[in-house]
Amino acid sequence: AKEQRLIVVANRLPFSAFKGIGGDWKLQVSPGGLVSALTCVEGYSMTWVGWPGQYIEEGERDSLREAFAKKDCCPVYLDEKTTDLFYNGYCNSVLWQLFHYIALQQEGTLSETQTVQDQYDAYKAANEMFMKAVMTEYQEGDIVWVHDYHLMLLPQILKEEVPEMKVGWFLHTPFPSSEIFRTLPQRNDILMGVLRADLVGFHTYDYARHFVSSCCRILGLEGTLDGIENAHMGTITRVAVFPIGIDPEKWINELDTPSVQARILEMRGQFQGRKVLLGVDRLDMVKGIPQKLLAFEKFLEENPEWRNHVLLVQIAIPSRKDVPEYQKLTSGVHEMVGRINGRFGSLTQNPIHFLDCSLDFHNLCALYAVTDVLVVASLRDGMNLVSYEYVACQNKEFPGVLVLSEFAGAAQSLGAGAILSNPYNVNELSSAIAYALKMSDQERQQRHRQNFMHVKVHTAQAWGETFISELHDTHIEAALRT
Ligand code: UDP
Repeated sequence: AKEQRLIVVANRLPFSAFKGIGGDWKLQVSPGGLVSALTCVEGYSMTWVGWPGQYIEEGERDSLREAFAKKDCCPVYLDEKTTDLFYNGYCNSVLWQLFHYIALQQEGTLSETQTVQDQYDAYKAANEMFMKAVMTEYQEGDIVWVHDYHLMLLPQILKEEVPEMKVGWFLHTPFPSSEIFRTLPQRNDILMGVLRADLVGFHTYDYARHFVSSCCRILGLEGTLDGIENAHMGTITRVAVFPIGIDPEKWINELDTPSVQARILEMRGQFQGRKVLLGVDRLDMVKGIPQKLLAFEKFLEENPEWRNHVLLVQIAIPSRKDVPEYQKLTSGVHEMVGRINGRFGSLTQNPIHFLDCSLDFHNLCALYAVTDVLVVASLRDGMNLVSYEYVACQNKEFPGVLVLSEFAGAAQSLGAGAILSNPYNVNELSSAIAYALKMSDQERQQRHRQNFMHVKVHTAQAWGETFISELHDTHIEAALRT
């Protein structure tokens, strides 16, 4: 039988392009959750459609298109103005913020109504351009899987071209409560855009529930948690929950390599017998880094006997460095770290190591393995894969403990083994840290077993395969109904 063809449409292609010395294009894998999740799905012939991540001059486009074609990728070229209004504007300043409840905390982004309309026009134009690229690849019977908040109008635009196309859409961020979503000026169009998909997927039950109630309240449609009925169009959009995972074997195998083992021993020496709390987050408002620092400060304040025996290592991966809010966050957390180190440090030791950098796979793997507690304080987070990676890297006899914000999607899957906490409550997070540091070996092992089982079974590959097969079935059912 011929392999089922799958077209994956996401804002970013899985490769970034740069010019080699001879002037020819070179492509480099751009690592990311979606790429690793989908590359391990087998049994489909896969084509990617997406933006190459930079502005490409007209004269360069054909040669780059050829280079991408060899990797089964089809680039969508956006001009600079569209990129700014679409990507920095509507995607990241409007939708991303709203979906993470940032509009509630900060003024500014939604009040500039004029520019929001310009941004939305560019969003529509960009979604149209993605459609045109999909149509150059599409053959009858193909499955088209659209990803994320960048492309919420695309399911509708595609169905207008080919009504029988099999279209799925998956959201990698949270979906907000309908009370928040209904503040979006373009709320109707955005929901209608997504609803034309055959299958709509979310990480958690709560996000799916918010989406269904937004459709009911804003569009007046009938819906249950299984789907939305559109009597007017005679269609049903199926809604389902597909929690993403990681490729745990990749981490487990890396741990066994001599170089990571050596790095672990080296780090252990450097930590000088202190217990180590770890944070690994993009430096982003939604990650709750200030809340984490305040909770750690509280812990040191209330537990003087721990002051020379515990260290917080916080990796703050630089993110959106040219955006003023992110610059403000960076200087704010640096000031807090300085204050806490000044207050509780000694001549030779500081309680916090704060690093503004990213780590390579090798070092990250070693760091996960040697540390005693991972603290995730996200205020809102689609899933949080760092917590999965941490679990995959723990030793079964002396596993580390996971302190996990209840506002991360992962709290719904790793809640049984983790210590859940509300990061807005500094006292509670501080007590969770204390509890984790003092936990008995037996309890640590038992909690770890539950988490490990989940991470091992609910892999990225299982996620991809389940979504695709569900989309397939949904489409067959829909065809039977008509
Ligand atoms: N990560 C990274 N560079 C680093 C440290 C971590 O790329 O220096 C990776 C990490 O392994 C994880 C991802 O970044 O896979 C973060 O994903 P998560 O879902 O936790 O949060 P997001 O950044 O997508 O909000």
